[in-house]
Amino acid sequence: MALPAPTADKLNPKQIADTLRNLKRGETFRYRAQGQEFFAPRTAAEFGAIKAAQPDIRILAGSTDVGLWVTKQFRELGSLLYVGQVEDLNHIEERDGMVEIGAAVTLEKAYAALNAAHPELEEMWKRFASLPIRNAGTLGGNIANGSPIGDSMPALIALGTEVVLQHGETRRTLPLEDLYLAYQKTAMQPGEFVAALRVPVAGPQHFRTYKLSKRFDEDISAVCAAFGITVQDGIVTQARIAFGGMAATPKRAAATEAALTGQPWNEATARAGMAALAQDYTPLSDMRATASYRSRGAANLLYRFWLETRAQALPAAAVNVRAIGAGATETATA
Ligand SMILES: Cc1cc2nc3c(=O)[nH]c(=O)nc-3n(C[C@H](O)[C@H](O)[C@H](O)COP(=O)(O)OP(=O)(O)OC[C@H]3O[C@@H](n4cnc5c(N)ncnc54)[C@H](O)[C@@H]3O)c2cc1C
Repeated sequence: MALPAPTADKLNPKQIADTLRNLKRGETFRYRAQGQEFFAPRTAAEFGAIKAAQPDIRILAGSTDVGLWVTKQFRELGSLLYVGQVEDLNHIEERDGMVEIGAAVTLEKAYAALNAAHPELEEMWKRFASLPIRNAGTLGGNIANGSPIGDSMPALIALGTEVVLQHGETRRTLPLEDLYLAYQKTAMQPGEFVAALRVPVAGPQHFRTYKLSKRFDEDISAVCAAFGITVQDGIVTQARIAFGGMAATPKRAAATEAALTGQPWNEATARAGMAALAQDYTPLSDMRATASYRSRGAANLLYRFWLETRAQALPAAAVNVRAIGAGATETATA
């Protein structure tokens, strides 16, 4: 017996488009099963209202962290509040000298936008997980999860990023480094969530971010570093340095910044900064790296930064790690 022709065959393209458009839900999708609820709101205001009313509800973004809690740790997640359909959290806008990235923006889109302003981010962008993960995961999820080995935070802290937190419909802004209080503890209040990140378009004069891991890609950092300095008349006038993998949170290197600021940008200053790192960090040994590897690696990354940005001799060309990973010899990108 012949099957009836699909209804869509009888519609013209405009009717098909209208039909599909009408399927789009305008209001919050709610689903309840076995005492748990799933909410997919469409606006940040609705999202904020649900989170304020149920502060313990689990926010779900790309699920590239949360999914593993289920598949590896067999955790129950409880009720879920999904960020992915909130249209006004899915924006990338440039205004007031900042690129604003909404919490629902995927890592791939966020890094593409940030890389346009800061091409030095390319190594971190391409080495962050893999394209499928970057197409699912969000930058907001990376920031909110607050892992000490999350890759985005050192670079964003070095660039002077602000995080926009929302409670109900009220927003407040914090320097990103102030979000992280202790291991797995952030400054987010009950009912608050990450609404957006605001990244300055103008970066420091010299900016680099580096990742040390066992594999080239699809690997977690042992150490992740970001250095930003401005040099005027040979003197370092500003330094913002942050590391992942070196402490219980992503953390700015205050003593190292102090050792560089006001000093000539020369090898002695770079070495003073390398020594000062010991005041900033007491890293741990774990399955990814020993404490001494981390300390030495972090110091050597600062030395690499100096080699790539020094003025008095020819700066060393930035190494394109991707080209080396692909089997080529060192390739200059600078
Ligand atoms: C194979 C693989 C490779 C990976 N590689 C890397 C890597 O190289 N570098 C790296 O840093 N990470 C890596 N990750 C971790 C993960 O991809 C990132 O942390 C990602 O950014 C998480 O975003 P998400 O949208 O998937 O968050 P989810 O998993 O949905 O959520 C993560 C956490 O953040 C909370 N959350 C999410 N959005 C918000 C919000 N707007 N406000 C408040 N809380 C929120 C959630 O409740 C949850 O606690 C990898 C993961 C996998 C599976």
